[in-house]
Amino acid sequence: MKDRSLLMIPGPIEFEPEVMTALGMPTTSHVAPDFIEAFGRALETMREVWLAPNGQPFVIAGSGTLAMELAGANLIEPGDRALVLSTGVFGDRFEDLLTRHGAEVTVLRAPLGCIVPHEDIEDALAKGSYKLLTVTHVDTSTAVRMPIEAIGMLCRRYNVLSVVDGVCSVAGEEIRQEEWGLDVVLTASQKAIGVPPGLALLVASQRAMDAFSARKTPVRSYYADWAKWLPIMTAYVARKPSYFGTPAVNLIAALDVGLQQLAAEGMPARFSRHERLAAAFRAGVDVLGLTHVAEDGDYRANMLTACRYPKGIDAASLLPEIKRAGVIVAGGLHPDIKSEYFRVGHMGAVRPGDILAALGALESGLADCGYVFEPGVSLAAAVRQL
Ligand SMILES: *Cc1c(COP(=O)(O)O)cnc(C)c1O
Repeated sequence: MKDRSLLMIPGPIEFEPEVMTALGMPTTSHVAPDFIEAFGRALETMREVWLAPNGQPFVIAGSGTLAMELAGANLIEPGDRALVLSTGVFGDRFEDLLTRHGAEVTVLRAPLGCIVPHEDIEDALAKGSYKLLTVTHVDTSTAVRMPIEAIGMLCRRYNVLSVVDGVCSVAGEEIRQEEWGLDVVLTASQKAIGVPPGLALLVASQRAMDAFSARKTPVRSYYADWAKWLPIMTAYVARKPSYFGTPAVNLIAALDVGLQQLAAEGMPARFSRHERLAAAFRAGVDVLGLTHVAEDGDYRANMLTACRYPKGIDAASLLPEIKRAGVIVAGGLHPDIKSEYFRVGHMGAVRPGDILAALGALESGLADCGYVFEPGVSLAAAVRQL
């Protein structure tokens, strides 16, 4: 029997039926004409979605962490200096990853639930000679959103490559890669892009590609080497067959369908839909008296909400009750507060009814746990926003 629970976690998310249909089509050859067309079109559409008309897209089988690794492996040579802005678990992951690739890493770590202040970033860039900066646009462990437009400008001014971990933001939060001067914007298929897990996606600027070409040492990872993949991406865009490693044929067919849906909605409409639905969800949790991990209201993500449990309620009591009401939400991820909060994803194909369903299930769960509130208040608050 189909489990009709609504999946509202920060990835994987609910996928559109057309995407799932494409995924289930008979697998074709990676050099079949219809696959070449689908792959080429998907790569071109990424430029639209990323708002990077001159960017170089890459699609490689792997998860979001591979997309992070592609940036690190190709842009870092041993001894290069990197500045990592960390607002949670995924910023810390970049520290670890870049260190592994031989970078000398400096981390600006925000206090839990806060952003890294602009002045601190500028200070660090003015003092150190960094080759590369990484920033997690939305850190999924805290729901803190960093102001990447200003960071892109700063990086341009100090001639530093900017790498944006957009795994929990691309195709939901506003990102204008080219206009904002961002060098690498990376993500994975299973979050707001809306395609099952398995594809690492990124778009690189010409500056990033030039920095890659200027390397003095070969890339240490064989599989992640852009030198292997660039001719493949170029060939498919030119609608020519090519081979380095077998592409994930079915996932790429699904990606093509998903990206066409995104392009049809239009990026500005998509950004504002996420903003409106997130505001409605937050209005709901706020009237219930729940507090956010992300402290400053201006820096709360539109992709997910991270809320602390009310006093006396924990994951073991609340999450199964929410599930019983038909909605799956996620527990905590940040090691310092893992047991103190939960996360609700509202990205991708999410609709107003999903927001109301999630709030309804949350109310139902809280009521089962003995939390006292006026039934329906969160729904009323959300409806007013919608
Ligand atoms: C999910 C996520 C990742 C890791 O992606 P995987 O597909 O799990 O490897 C990295 N960064 C952010 C911000 C994420 O949300």
